[in-house]
Amino acid sequence: MIVIKTAAEIELMKEACRISAGALKAGGEAVVPGATTEDVDAAVRDYIRSEGAKATFLGYGGFPKSACVSVNEEVIHGIPSRKRRLKEGDIVSIDVGAFKNGFTGDNAATYAVGQIDGRAQKLLDVTREALRLGIAAAKPGNRVGDIGHAVQAYAEENGCSVVRDFVGHGVGRELHEEPEVPNYGRAGHGARLVPGMTIAIEPMLCLGGYEVEVLDNDWTVVTRDGSLSAHFEHSVLITKDGPLVLTVI
Ligand code: MG
Repeated sequence: MIVIKTAAEIELMKEACRISAGALKAGGEAVVPGATTEDVDAAVRDYIRSEGAKATFLGYGGFPKSACVSVNEEVIHGIPSRKRRLKEGDIVSIDVGAFKNGFTGDNAATYAVGQIDGRAQKLLDVTREALRLGIAAAKPGNRVGDIGHAVQAYAEENGCSVVRDFVGHGVGRELHEEPEVPNYGRAGHGARLVPGMTIAIEPMLCLGGYEVEVLDNDWTVVTRDGSLSAHFEHSVLITKDGPLVLTVI
């Protein structure tokens, strides 16, 4: 069942989403050459705590940290570690949600560690723009497939592949609600978008093939061919006037 939020619920959710956005920004500011992925997690954790919220991912399905921090060929669900040190030229995807007043936000972005090469920069630019186009398609009367189609068309036109095995989702009281929001699909198909729906749109694009596999830690998803992957995500409210991004500071 797709949960339509009331105006009062949306106000509560906006606060959780604002904190989620602040936590992502704090994590991004910790992405510097020589930092560890644990340092990034600590920045996220401390920010969320300072806002009186809880890290949604901590303990979710047994996940051990506050944020997912995924480096280079890691697509999503990287586990922060003191042993994983960032170096110039890496790209780092941070995915984080904050839970407050019964609601959660969910957002992600990929950051450059110092100077990155042109191919990596292109991947970041294409993924960010694919998210923007996916959000633009999240209008009342459109369908979920219109979002996926917009993301996929732009990604593939620009030489990037779209991960199939993981998708966006409804978000609200639960981190994962209905409907699923794939980053691929057919325009005009799937659930109809109506005002009051809140969804996480989150393209995961790769420079190589879209096939992924899960590492032995049972969490971290990597590209099968070892190519770079990027991930951008916002929590978005469907309004009668169009999409409204909630994960903003
Ligand atoms: Mg998500």
